Amino acid sequence: MKVTELEITVHPAEPDAPPILALFHAIPGVGSVRVVVRTDDGVSGAAEIGFGRATGRPNSLAAVIEHELKPVVLGTDTAFIRGTHEAMLRETDYCGPTGLALYGISMIDVALWDCIGKAHGVPCWQLWGAVRDRIPAYAMVGWPNYGDEKLQRVCAEAVEHGFRAVKIRGGFPTMEEDVERVKLARKAIGDDTKLMVDGGQNLTVAEAIRRGRALQDLGCYWWEEPIPTHDIDGNVAIAEALDIPLALGENLHGVTDFARHLRCGAVDIVQPNMRRAGGPTTLLQIGTMADAFDRRYASSQADGTVQLNVMACLPNALYLEADVLDPTSLPELTDGHISLPTGPGFDWE
Ligand SMILES: [Mg+2]
Repeated sequence: MKVTELEITVHPAEPDAPPILALFHAIPGVGSVRVVVRTDDGVSGAAEIGFGRATGRPNSLAAVIEHELKPVVLGTDTAFIRGTHEAMLRETDYCGPTGLALYGISMIDVALWDCIGKAHGVPCWQLWGAVRDRIPAYAMVGWPNYGDEKLQRVCAEAVEHGFRAVKIRGGFPTMEEDVERVKLARKAIGDDTKLMVDGGQNLTVAEAIRRGRALQDLGCYWWEEPIPTHDIDGNVAIAEALDIPLALGENLHGVTDFARHLRCGAVDIVQPNMRRAGGPTTLLQIGTMADAFDRRYASSQADGTVQLNVMACLPNALYLEADVLDPTSLPELTDGHISLPTGPGFDWE
């Protein structure tokens, strides 16, 4: 099955879309890029990813795909998908195969696996070999712009919807604010729901350790990105000082970033983001590598069904992040778990 066409569609960010407020900055309307790969067998596969913050980013990514990646992919045999993945990394190495290049590689990887799954009429997890038939999911609900009342309401709605774990943002200017948010969320979700806290890379090492001790005393489940992710020494110091697991990885690029953090003991739970990791091919590598270090895997976002398909095949998979502002728009949950998708490639059904 040879790749004969690669179509790119840009959906620019709407200039007047209501912004989402992250901790200290607003994210303007989200633009996206869609890629469709067509083959000489008549089978096609697709991938779509969105962006925040920068309105020019979708067009920049489209240019990288059109001028650097598309020439590598056209004419290749989908049976050699890992070879194509390597070829795209080599092609972009001159300027560094991270950043936007890796976003493009990730999208093409998704579209190619989607083709292969559709050609065989099975979900990708069946191609790779699964270890489980459902995945625990948590809801990211505690956005920092939520006032106390909204924070509690959205936390309670997530539990009502069936989640057994929720995540809120911490890393506020003072530890007292972080502790207060945790207590408010805990009141809303009860004692049986797990509570994770994301520090948003905002703290110093000393402050991350101080707050991490408070969070572990409050029974929180993981402490995510309290300091900049690329500070390996700092993250090693935090992981060594605390009992609460240190989760990070959404801002790491490619398999080698994860290899360094794992080798140094700078992470307890890896959280690769599909767009920055390199697509499902690399997510599987990262997950397997983390398993060899006896570390767990949690997704950063879900990216449609991509992370579900990957996590089905990882023995160390811990939690899927439900990356929506409205948890009620999610698929049905049973006991806090999402069933595996049954559609071919990356289709839901
Ligand atoms: Mg995060």
